[in-house]
Amino acid sequence: MLDSGLFRLFQLHLVDAALHELKSHAGALDLGQAENAALKERLSATEEIRALPKKLRQEQTDLELEQKSLQDKRALLNKKVYGGSVVSPKEIMAMETEIASLGVRIDGLDERQFEILEALPDAEAKAKEIERELALLKRTIQEKQALAKSEHESLKESYAATVKKRPPALAKVSPHLVEQYEVLRTRIGTPAMAVITKNSSCGACGILLPERVMELVRQDRVVNCESCRRILFSPMPGAE
Ligand SMILES: [Zn+2]
Repeated sequence: MLDSGLFRLFQLHLVDAALHELKSHAGALDLGQAENAALKERLSATEEIRALPKKLRQEQTDLELEQKSLQDKRALLNKKVYGGSVVSPKEIMAMETEIASLGVRIDGLDERQFEILEALPDAEAKAKEIERELALLKRTIQEKQALAKSEHESLKESYAATVKKRPPALAKVSPHLVEQYEVLRTRIGTPAMAVITKNSSCGACGILLPERVMELVRQDRVVNCESCRRILFSPMPGAE
């Protein structure tokens, strides 16, 4: 029987295909990119809702301070008007007008404080709900990243173990065939070999192989698939 060395080339191909597979797997690890994008989007979309409780509480504090200062002012005027230190009726009248106007402003502030008190529970509940949603997203990202990290470690180990199999596999193939194989790999990438299925089609691209190609394969010749260019390989009957 002719020996083109295809079987040994196929062993090298299996190592290369395994390395390629490990690399692709590592490249496709889920680092939670989708959740990260969702998190960014939600962070920006919910900024106002999340900030509202703090904003309302700050407004309330400001109102209390303003109200306190108005009340102090009113108390001072009251003291002047009713303490007897001011005697001019004109002056007293002006002060009473101011006291009344202070009263209106103080009541107005009361109203707004009441509104805030009413709005706070709902604002806090909404903000809390969003914070919970964001925390969940953050946790998912962390979990995915931790998982990807450990998967990456194990892929690295497998890669290191598999890459050791390459030199001995390479040494068994004739340089001429290796050259052909490597040129093809540079052109079409890995895997550069395809197994012929039992229906005589290319195991990589699926095209049905013509009889003349099958005849060459039977003669153990190096033949490329006419469609995907891969070197065709047929597990030799009786080789197992
Ligand atoms: Zn093909």
